[in-house]
This record gives sequence, C-alpha cells and structure tokens, in this order.
Amino acid sequence: MFTVGLTGGIGSGKSTVADCFAALGVPVIDTDVIARDLTAPARGTPPDARPAGGAWLLPTCRLYNHGLPLAGGLGAAPGGAVLEEIRAVFGEAVMQADGTLDRAALRRRVFSDSAARRQLEAILHPRIRQVVGDRLAMLTAPYALVVIPLLVQRQDHPQGAGRGCKADKSATTTHRPKGERLAAYPSRVETGGYRDMLNRVLVVDCPEDVQIARVMARSGLEQDEIQAILAAQAGRAERLAVADDIIVNTATPEALRAEVAALHQRYLALAAAPPP
Ligand code: ADP
Repeated sequence: MFTVGLTGGIGSGKSTVADCFAALGVPVIDTDVIARDLTAPARGTPPDARPAGGAWLLPTCRLYNHGLPLAGGLGAAPGGAVLEEIRAVFGEAVMQADGTLDRAALRRRVFSDSAARRQLEAILHPRIRQVVGDRLAMLTAPYALVVIPLLVQRQDHPQGAGRGCKADKSATTTHRPKGERLAAYPSRVETGGYRDMLNRVLVVDCPEDVQIARVMARSGLEQDEIQAILAAQAGRAERLAVADDIIVNTATPEALRAEVAALHQRYLALAAAPPP
C-alpha cells in the first residue's frame, strides 16, 4: 500500500494535519497511540490519551483515534505487551503502585540518558513497526498516513544542533522529487526502521516560537519544559532534510485544510501511478 509518513516537532501541527487527512477519508495510523497501547496494562488505550507532539510519554489531552474502535481494527494495539519488559529493564522506579507505567518517571529516565532511550526504543520500535505493518496490510484504501513523531532523532547530541531553520511565514507546501533530499546531517538518525515502509515523508514545519505558544496553550506545560523537549528532539533542519513534502503550518486552519486537500490529490495520483 502507498504509505505516507507524517512527522514534525512537538506543536508543529502533526495531529491537526492528520485530522485533516482523516476528514478526507484517509486511514491514519499513529505510532504514539500504538506506543501508548503497548505500554498499557490491559487491552485498549487509557482514556487520557492523545500524545503531545511526538512524545507518548508526555501528559496528554485527548484521544487521537479518529473515532476508530479501541479494540481491534486500526484503533488498538494489544495492551500490556511490553510493560513487563520495560519493568524488567528499568525497574520498579518506572512503575506506579497500581501496576501501570509511570510515564513521567520513564520520561525523566530516558530524557537525558541516550543509552536508556535506545534501550526503550529497542523494546518498542520493533513492536510498533509490526503493528503498523499489520494494520497497513488490513487496509484497502488508496493510501494511508502513518504518524511517526520521532521519525528523525539525534543520536547522541540531545542539545543544540540543527536549530534555527528559517521558514516563510505563510502556509506553503514544498515537494522534493525523490532522490533529491538535502545532504544528511551528521547527528541526524532516522529511527525505528520505518523508512522502508514509507513511500513519502511529509514534514509539518513551523518556527519554534509558534510551536512553544501552541503547546503552552494546549498542554499547560511551562515554556522551559517545552524548550527542553524541543532541544531533545531533532531540529527543524534535520527533519526537513528527510522530507519529500513540507507543510509550513503558520497560517490559518482553513489554509492548512486547503494544503492538505491539495496534498491528498497528489498522493491519490502517486498511489494510482504504476511503480517506477
Ligand atoms: P502536534 O501534534 O504536532 O504536537 P497539534 O496538531 O496538536 O501539534 O497542534 C498543536 C496546537 O496548535 C493544537 O492546539 C492545534 O489546535 C493548534 N494548531 C495547529 N495548527 C494550527 C494552525 N494552523 N492555526 C492555529 N492553531 C493551530
């Protein structure tokens, strides 16, 4: 199936963009929701659950499931599948008394420790990838969108590199022919092994001050907390380097919907074209 990977920094507008695609009937698979399901103690997603911009460990505000059923279908991964493994590796310090994952404690544990983060990713990524593959195999739509907030990460340089990319202050979509991505950044790494299952990568981009303002309004996190998350995520330039298509999400929601509608037509055409 023709598959588009959607990524972007926290607060860039990934979920909003994904909602726009979903409104056009495009199946959306969200790897953050899968991660959350996989680390839940029982089948299903806890009710608190839309991940905040690429971090399923962050406090969340609403379920991002497009009305799909929580059990089965595209909505849910098997609950609790990796909880015991996380407990075995990270210990009781990341568990709550009721046997659920203490996401805040795990977040603190992996936030500044890249070895621990890699351990966690080694537990999660293969399972998430498997669920994504299984769900894609069930679909009959012309194409699907897979939301992968952390498609691009820094390897061992959590602070600083790749920041400060400038973007126009308008909603624009840029397309780059295949094979013409920007040169790789040394500290950038595509994580999770998703690249092989993606035909296109769509990056949602916006300036950091806009990201911060949006996340503050949405989550109640403080500015310095959001800045720390931004510093730990890939920089904008690093993400843009892997993009086939770019939405600069600085205009109105209406303009964004129009951008997505145009991209939708483009993806339908690409999905219908015979493979090269
Ligand atoms: P992400 O999923 O990348 O973290 P969201 O899609 O949740 O980002 O967007 C962050 C916040 O910004 C949300 O409250 C959303 O409603 C708002 N938002 C997103 N795009 C726009 C836009 N173009 N104009 C105004 N608000 C926006």
